Amino acid sequence: MIYLDSAATTAVHPDVIKVITEALTTHYGNPSSTYQLGRTAHELLESSRQTIARCLNVSSDEIYFTSGATEAINWAIRSQAYQSRELGLGNHLVATSIEHSAVLKCLEQLENEGFTYTLVNPNSEGEFTVDQFEAVSTPQTTGWIAMAVNNEVGSILPIESISKAAQSRGYWFHCDTVQAIGKVDCDYASYPITSFVVTGHKISGPKGVGILVYRPQNPAMQLHPMIVGGGQERSQRAGTENIPYIAGLAKAIELATGELTQHLAHYQSIKDDLLTSLKAHQIEYHLNGDTTHSVDNIVNLWLPDFESAKLRIQMDLVGIAVSAGSACSAGSIQPSRILKAYYPNETDRLVQSLRISFSPETTKNEIDQFVKTLVELKEKGDK
Ligand code: PLP
Repeated sequence: MIYLDSAATTAVHPDVIKVITEALTTHYGNPSSTYQLGRTAHELLESSRQTIARCLNVSSDEIYFTSGATEAINWAIRSQAYQSRELGLGNHLVATSIEHSAVLKCLEQLENEGFTYTLVNPNSEGEFTVDQFEAVSTPQTTGWIAMAVNNEVGSILPIESISKAAQSRGYWFHCDTVQAIGKVDCDYASYPITSFVVTGHKISGPKGVGILVYRPQNPAMQLHPMIVGGGQERSQRAGTENIPYIAGLAKAIELATGELTQHLAHYQSIKDDLLTSLKAHQIEYHLNGDTTHSVDNIVNLWLPDFESAKLRIQMDLVGIAVSAGSACSAGSIQPSRILKAYYPNETDRLVQSLRISFSPETTKNEIDQFVKTLVELKEKGDK
């Protein structure tokens, strides 16, 4: 099988599996228990937190373990929205229209609870700017939300300028860094971001584990616990901690940040191979998204000679996993809302685009196989 869909999820790194297995077999105590076995599990929990804090350049008491990014995103946005309303700061939020559905669905729910929000679209260059956020902010605005890297097209957003502008207006700023950690050489913690999130399964770690980093500028902006019960995670997120996966997550973050330079060079070379090979074989393509600011591990291609839903199935039949960037609903293909945000008037592009995404293990040979399949399908006229 040729796996070219690493933006969806990744295989777990052998070193991560080792750490998880060790924790499952040896450190199975409840970290809240006070005898030796519990204390060892607690030590592993806290050393994992410290490893992550060091890798992400944050303080360990700013880290909260969650079941993944979706939970962390919901927690960060709800908590800050509720708290700012309680403090009388306002009830309006601004976000980009290309956020993950964890953000957008959360905003929809908040709307039912009396909040309002405005979504900002990419401009004609495919970029987002501070001006766009400022233009739609009102006296009721309390928070801005922007992702660091979009998961479908790989666009890198200008988080430094947006977070600094949010800070200067006294707003909280939430950033979804799920697709940026290990993919962008950037110290996000050096910006005034009040909350950001990481998930294990996008960086060769396990699924179902992630973190919320919470660093309010305003000390009155307390976290609101969303899951109540025991006193875990400083009484902010109840439930016995998933020690094996937390230890695995720490290992995955350590690898992703520690080997960043090699990984970035690898992604760049694989992307170059892909685009060079497409050109050499006269496969027409256009890059989707912000083509000036984008990660190299996600390539979203408009392929005018192909219909993406069909192409994804044809690729699957020969053992190549890629993403069409569109969902099939009630028998009809729904074009990706992300591509729609970038290209509202280009109907063909919406149904002729494909996302290919790489991991540190992706090989040139796999890219050759992918292009060879495209060439064969084009020659057969079966598109
Ligand atoms: N945010 C982005 C940008 C993502 O790509 C994903 C995963 O699809 C998520 C959030 C959700 O992460 P999780 O699967 O850990 O809930």
